[in-house]
Amino acid sequence: MNGKRPHEVVVVPGDGIGPEITEAAVRVIEATGVPIAWHEALAGEAARQRYGHPLPDVTLDAMRTARVALKGPLLAPKQTGRVTIRREGVENTYPSVNNALRRELAVFANVRPIKSYAGVPSPFPALDVVIMREVTEDTYIGWEEMKGPDEAWAIKRITRQASERIFRFAFQYARRESRRRVTAGHKANVLNLTDGLFLQCGRDVAAGFPEIAFDDYMVDALCVRLVKQPETIDVLVLPNQYGDILSDLCGGIAGSLGLAPGANVGEQVSFFEASHGAAPDIAGQGIANPIAFILCGAMLLGHLGEGEAAKRVQAAVATVLKQGRWLTPDLGGRARTAEVTSAIVDTLQPGRLGVEGEKGGG
Ligand code: NAD
Repeated sequence: MNGKRPHEVVVVPGDGIGPEITEAAVRVIEATGVPIAWHEALAGEAARQRYGHPLPDVTLDAMRTARVALKGPLLAPKQTGRVTIRREGVENTYPSVNNALRRELAVFANVRPIKSYAGVPSPFPALDVVIMREVTEDTYIGWEEMKGPDEAWAIKRITRQASERIFRFAFQYARRESRRRVTAGHKANVLNLTDGLFLQCGRDVAAGFPEIAFDDYMVDALCVRLVKQPETIDVLVLPNQYGDILSDLCGGIAGSLGLAPGANVGEQVSFFEASHGAAPDIAGQGIANPIAFILCGAMLLGHLGEGEAAKRVQAAVATVLKQGRWLTPDLGGRARTAEVTSAIVDTLQPGRLGVEGEKGGG
């Protein structure tokens, strides 16, 4: 502890591997010495058991008050995961608990920096992409309807306001982070109006950022490009559904979903969650890869203005992966969650990081 007032942060352990990776991320964040007062809140199955609802008011209120949270993955059952939230006499129904959380807290950008690491085996060329996924609209608004027993419709909603906002956010990010190119992914050759409007908003916003290149690809061609020439994609802006899908593709290219962190950014509240889900197939075994969530911790530290600590965590992760000794089974190794975490915590100790980490130290 360094005598500073602690940052107030809500932590939601979540479902499946959530509690295991939360323990890991909290350990690493605490090892940086940045003072944090953690406030645990429940969502998902634990909340359903305690409060009878997977997203209780008490959790939403805690996140609104702290304005920042570290959030583990939540199970969202197939076909039956709709969640209704009642607030101030108004009732809203969302297609899943994660969708409900993002929309109740009015986050609009899901930022997912996904990259390849030395020491992690992958058959693909090196990747270093930041996905900017719009999360307020598209098909994920959940407006679905049965038109009789054998026909179902879904509405895809794209607005100029939300599309321009995500492109502006992406270009501002690119400018701040010295990224050189913003790419839009879409299917405007078929979805002429909806994805057409999304693409047009990208072009309109790009005109205000002449120093940053702008291009676009159809989302199918984009998948091939990400696999074959990932170095040509830098900041990637996508509507909600393509952003969801391509995030997992990028995680796979990097070597595992367990390397893909993320932030949900809003005007009032931001919360940090990995791209991956609750991984029920490996929950409780102590073998989940904690790195995506630890990198979420680094993003959280950066958001709190603790940029030096954030860089130290990122450098420690890169150092540990490069050693190749502490790889969880998803990366082809045999290390356990706690061993990877300890290796990162040890690497954070003064004098242990290489030149890059030392520069970022403090
Ligand atoms: P998933 O991401 O949970 O798992 C896909 C595969 O990747 C599994 O084989 C899993 O073992 C592996 N994997 C994921 N994270 C890993 C990690 N950190 N370390 C090692 N291996 C890892 O996707 P799924 O199986 O389609 O979904 C499981 C549940 O999670 C579903 O209920 C789904 O709705 C939910 N989900 C939640 C979120 C979220 O909370 N933001 C995101 C995606 C999925």
